[in-house]
Amino acid sequence: MPINVLFAARAKAWDDYRPHLPAALAEAGVTAHVATDIPADIVDYIVYAPNSSVQDFSLFPRLKAVLNLWAGVEDVVGNPTLAVPLARMVDGGLTAGMVEWVTGHVLRHHLGMDAHILGQDGQWRADVPPLAADRPVTILGMGELGAACAQALVGLGFPVTGWSRNARPIPGVTRRAGDADLPAALTTAQILVLLLPLTPQTENTLNAYTLAHLPQGAVVLNPGRGGLIDDAALLAALDSGHIGHATLDTFRIEPLPPAHPFWAHPRVTVTPHIASATRPRTAARAVAENIRRGEAGLPLLNLVDRARGY
Ligand code: NAP
Repeated sequence: MPINVLFAARAKAWDDYRPHLPAALAEAGVTAHVATDIPADIVDYIVYAPNSSVQDFSLFPRLKAVLNLWAGVEDVVGNPTLAVPLARMVDGGLTAGMVEWVTGHVLRHHLGMDAHILGQDGQWRADVPPLAADRPVTILGMGELGAACAQALVGLGFPVTGWSRNARPIPGVTRRAGDADLPAALTTAQILVLLLPLTPQTENTLNAYTLAHLPQGAVVLNPGRGGLIDDAALLAALDSGHIGHATLDTFRIEPLPPAHPFWAHPRVTVTPHIASATRPRTAARAVAENIRRGEAGLPLLNLVDRARGY
């Protein structure tokens, strides 16, 4: 008897996943009917994007688990109707994309590329940039994505400090953990990367107080979530020159409204939440593997801790 897998996401996502998800389930040995319109009372699993029209999980009496297509779960983790396990997306393609975005933007600022790309004014400025070894980088959030970015940057020679709740060792990375250690993680950071999930504890992690701990001229990269930053405090620090540049991929409101001061600020680069995305082929395999595990009575991978919020 096939199980029923409801795909609850925007129509475009279904176009992307339709060629891959049924095949991945078959490959995982799961006999499943996958569709966007299955009667609620026979749905076994929901493959989910938080921006889908499904918001009341109590309508699905047979539901065994919700499999989030996104890494971030802030828009579903607190849903009071969700009484089954919630797994989030960990996908090799998503991680690889984030490593590329972070590495690319770190190198842009480290090498001072803008001076040559934007400043073709006939002036021969032979300022040689420092080596990576002289450019300390701090990453806030050392989970799936932060740790992978840290390893890539260590591989290029950057001294990397990683801050999270627990200081799990990562080769070559100076570890800091917990609120008391945050100022120490910031004071050396010539480039700061935010890869925390958005939770009540992490909201406004970067505020006037923490920004003041960064060295003069530090660069901020935020591919995490917009709510990690107090926008007004960041703008003030950019205006004063204390922060040299901010490259922002995520925002409190997306798309970033045209009138938002980030767009026109000379020290801000806006990228439209493209740092990384789940890649349907590999992400479909991750979802299928979790459904296989669910059907085999095994614990799901990448379960969200509802109390912790990520
Ligand atoms: P993850 O594996 O859950 O890692 C989260 C990290 O943050 C962990 O190291 C965790 O510490 C740390 N953390 C959480 N709360 C903390 C707190 N209060 N204080 C200190 N550290 C804290 O998440 P991930 O897969 O790396 O993803 C991170 C975030 O990236 C996602 O939540 C999402 O918002 C964002 N993202 C953005 C894009 C994009 O395109 N812009 C794409 C994908 C993901 P422990 O290790 O000690 O638990």
